[in-house]
Amino acid sequence: MILVLLGPPGAGKGTQANLLTKQRSLVQLSTGDMLRAAVAAGTALGRKAGAIMERGELVPDDLVIGLIAERLDQGDAGQGYILDGFPRTIAQAEALDRLLVERGKQLDRVIEMKVDDDALVERITGRFACAHCGEGYHDPYKMPKVPGVCDRCGGTNFVRRKDDTEEVVRARLKAYHAQTEPLIGYYKAQGKLRGVDGMADIALVQKAINQALDPPEGAHKPPNSPG
Ligand code: ADP
Ligand code: ADP
Ligand code: ZN
Repeated sequence: MILVLLGPPGAGKGTQANLLTKQRSLVQLSTGDMLRAAVAAGTALGRKAGAIMERGELVPDDLVIGLIAERLDQGDAGQGYILDGFPRTIAQAEALDRLLVERGKQLDRVIEMKVDDDALVERITGRFACAHCGEGYHDPYKMPKVPGVCDRCGGTNFVRRKDDTEEVVRARLKAYHAQTEPLIGYYKAQGKLRGVDGMADIALVQKAINQALDPPEGAHKPPNSPG
């Protein structure tokens, strides 16, 4: 299964992608994570992308498309994947369609996660993650079960993203509305879009996504759909 999680910054894409990988044999492909790794490693791509990300703007399409194209050819993406944070522009969506056709695959579903802008600012400014394993948290919505200790790995150091300030979030939301929102119409026209209420609790959003992925018996399924 090939799945896109579409939604504004803070909608819960990373959180839900992580939960889905635990239930299905899918890998999570996050262009944000890949770009942050490139910045941390100081690669040529990272040097180009870093300043753009700090301003909350989108990294140029050709750079991000190149990153995804390379990633799709690594063996572990063969079973299926969840794209989290990609595509973010119509040009990226068109490139993804081409990349999949070239590989004899097709996109199965696009899940649009709907969350109000005010809630997004609260989500982003409360976000933090384990410095060791990257598990995501939120103050106050998803705190570690034992205060100060990561649920997944026991780590005790936590980090916040440099671009998770209110000012940069406003710029990221602007970029979302201008450049990414048009993808809703693009995927609606392809018949692949399903919307979920991203304002609900994490577990309820998870349930809604699973319902959108496994429609009831007898529902229309496109021919050649893998799984
Ligand atoms: P968010 O939590 O806002 O959804 P991400 O981790 O997905 O954040 O992305 C962080 C930043 O990385 C974005 O603000 C943007 O600068 C850059 N980025 C990530 N994915 C893309 C993409 N597909 N196209 C362009 N820029 C991207
Ligand atoms: P995205 O990847 O779309 O930017 P995240 O998954 O990182 O979003 O979620 C943003 C923040 O909001 C994180 O701190 C996360 O723990 C929290 N969060 C995610 N989903 C929910 C939810 N349904 N309700 C409350 N907080 C949430
Ligand atoms: Zn951890």
